[in-house]
Amino acid sequence: MSLIKLWKTQYQVCPKIKKTAQPKTQKSLILNVYTDKKALDSLAAPYKKELLAKKNCFESSLNESTLHLWLEDKRTNSDQPGEFVETAVERIKKQLGQAFNKVKPAVVVVNLAKKSTELSQAVGLSLSIASYNFKFSKTPQKSLSFGVHSQSLDANSFEKAWACGQAVNLARFLVDLPGGHLNPKTYAGFVQTLFKEFKSWKVQIHNEAFLKKNKMGLHQAVGRAAEFKSCLVEISNSKQPDCAFVGKGITYDTGGLDLKPSRFMRLMKKDMGGSAALVGAAWAQAFLGLKKNTIYLLALADNAVAGNSFRPGDVLEAHNGLQVEIDNTDAEGRLVLGDALSYASDKKSVKTIIDVATLTGAIKVGLGSKVSGLFSNSYKLAQKLHKVGVDAGEPNWIMPLPYWVEDEEIKSSVADLVNSGPGYGGAIYAAAFLKQFINRESLEWAHLDIFAWTDKPGGVYSRSGGSGQGVMTLVNYISE
Ligand SMILES: [Zn+2]
Repeated sequence: MSLIKLWKTQYQVCPKIKKTAQPKTQKSLILNVYTDKKALDSLAAPYKKELLAKKNCFESSLNESTLHLWLEDKRTNSDQPGEFVETAVERIKKQLGQAFNKVKPAVVVVNLAKKSTELSQAVGLSLSIASYNFKFSKTPQKSLSFGVHSQSLDANSFEKAWACGQAVNLARFLVDLPGGHLNPKTYAGFVQTLFKEFKSWKVQIHNEAFLKKNKMGLHQAVGRAAEFKSCLVEISNSKQPDCAFVGKGITYDTGGLDLKPSRFMRLMKKDMGGSAALVGAAWAQAFLGLKKNTIYLLALADNAVAGNSFRPGDVLEAHNGLQVEIDNTDAEGRLVLGDALSYASDKKSVKTIIDVATLTGAIKVGLGSKVSGLFSNSYKLAQKLHKVGVDAGEPNWIMPLPYWVEDEEIKSSVADLVNSGPGYGGAIYAAAFLKQFINRESLEWAHLDIFAWTDKPGGVYSRSGGSGQGVMTLVNYISE
């Protein structure tokens, strides 16, 4: 089955919100959101007690389950840097997602204490993400469809958030596709077909010959040993983009000749998670008609092993002329990104570049799998991305870029740069390396080192797999 056909089994248009009472015959999930203590008096005493203590309680009978949620009026993030508190949106995503996955309802009834844009968005996003049900199977697995009944949801906010949820699912879907299905060729073809319906958007696939002609020697070398060669996919809505997004798209990462041990290779289909976040965000931007002149660059390659693999010790020439010594072929993400960042920074209209990548294991060691590392040459841009990320429930943490890493550690004795080095701070090393490909001083640049994967089921995720990390950060950034 083509990838587009597979995606169509998951993509779901937003259900129309019915204002009538729900049919009693269908399996239903009722969500009651309270923000006023008086309203809790309608609940039976034990439930009220549980709700106040745990902020949520769940009642279930044969055909009807009810999730009660108690939200304090003000649940904003703490002023203390790094203290991420659970926002109303996150609470709804977690609890509603969990209840939804348990019940798999035919009808969802939503009773909000008050008509609220924020709460309606939270419900729309949660239900949309929870509907994802992708699995390879003899019997086609469709996304879970259901009806929505509500008097209190704001339809417009619900619909927009639903679309964002589908964008998150799109990124999850791409990450969930194994390397045997998703390679640079099928990936590029998928993206091209996906954007056909958006008339003001253009997708260009730059193949290996283009990379050669444009002296993108790093990107080309990484995919050289694979059956399907490296390519650069350019998605844009303007010839004069202000903002460029660059995504790492290693469709499978064996590590190359510096082969990964099997336990580290197992999940390497997810090494294109950064580019998947870009596809999700670009789709959301196109679908919602968000006005911003943007270009999205997906640096796609399959880091395979063969006689023509690039080698440790090789010296490769980058798009901006820098000569790069290869210390480790498994540090390939920074190579494909380096060329793509240089290519983006040569576009004269571009003022801001943001790259997203599953770049280092080191960032996971430091920050865990849910907090991404944020590096930037502009404090203003970093602050903005920090805020939109935290608000989107995708927290990130601003990381340092010390001068001595740039001045000494990433320097090679035989070339301008070396792609990896011994010692600690691997995520910082990688970020400092990327910075060398921002060709103009005036450009503001930020880099998000993400994980893109959820290890176990929980909240809106019914199983482990792609998490869609980064999509909402970018969508919120574009929306501002
Ligand atoms: Zn690698």
